Amino acid sequence: MSTTTALNTDWQRVIEEIAEEVKPLLATGAVADYIPELRNVDKDNFGMFVSLLDGREYYCGQAQTKFSVQSISKVFTLTKAFSMLKDGLWERVGKEPSGNPFNSLIQLEHENGKPRNPFINAGAIVVADCVVSHTQDSLNDMIDYIRGLAANKAIHIDHAMFRSEKAFGHRNAALAHFMKSYGNIESDVDEVLDFYFGHCSLSMSCEDVSRAFLFLANHGVHPLTNKRYLTASQAKRLNALLLTCGTYDAAGDFAFRVGMPGKSGVGGGIAAIIPGLLSVCVWSPGLDKYGNSLAGVKALELFTTKTGISIF
Ligand code: GLN
Repeated sequence: MSTTTALNTDWQRVIEEIAEEVKPLLATGAVADYIPELRNVDKDNFGMFVSLLDGREYYCGQAQTKFSVQSISKVFTLTKAFSMLKDGLWERVGKEPSGNPFNSLIQLEHENGKPRNPFINAGAIVVADCVVSHTQDSLNDMIDYIRGLAANKAIHIDHAMFRSEKAFGHRNAALAHFMKSYGNIESDVDEVLDFYFGHCSLSMSCEDVSRAFLFLANHGVHPLTNKRYLTASQAKRLNALLLTCGTYDAAGDFAFRVGMPGKSGVGGGIAAIIPGLLSVCVWSPGLDKYGNSLAGVKALELFTTKTGISIF
């Protein structure tokens, strides 16, 4: 579809149709329970927010309700680490899909403590270490950075979620200590984990997340603030990583069905972009077996099918 045709799409009608069509799926997913605090979210929630680069915005359902962003926040820490360390980052973390669950330990030993990509937990913990080692007051600095991206000062950590993640984060702690033994974590492990659990515990709405992803649809420059977050080349690369690794070992299925670079989180959010056109965030807490929002993936599949736009 040409950009002109895409701009004439009746976006509001499209997302309202989608909300109606995915309703029967809301009950079928399973809310993540390995972080106990995530169990307390109602599976009936569904929200969708679309931000066009020309400033138009469309939303439906609970698009302004805050939810736990979890792994979606890995995109923001990666953006910061990539802009600071540039290509040096890839000496510490790979760029290949893992084909393994997001919290898997197995691959890490075979590959000598270098995680496959920055979106599996091990990779995001290395990215967290890069940020912690290069910034003062790292978590507050990161929260301000994300507030800037979302153009919303009212973004905060959910402290109950943070405590829950920390108390049950044994697997992430194992990954971090294991990588430290290979010399791939520079800072103090507990400090890195607190930073990682902190950014995963941020509460944001679909509106916040959709706006915060706009710079990736605009060659690294945020259209609402004109601030450059990444070079055009870095933005292109980050989008390539989102496409190949953003939905873990379901990235192939997501590319096949949806056709957008996107990032999911176990809180049930998924953010995705079309370069040169838009960003979108959908939220529905019921997950599929890969840890991606079941109705969320379907909603994005319907979105590219109904509008005829995708990156392909
Ligand atoms: N904070 C979560 C964890 O570390 C993030 C996982 C996710 O959203 N896939 O397990």
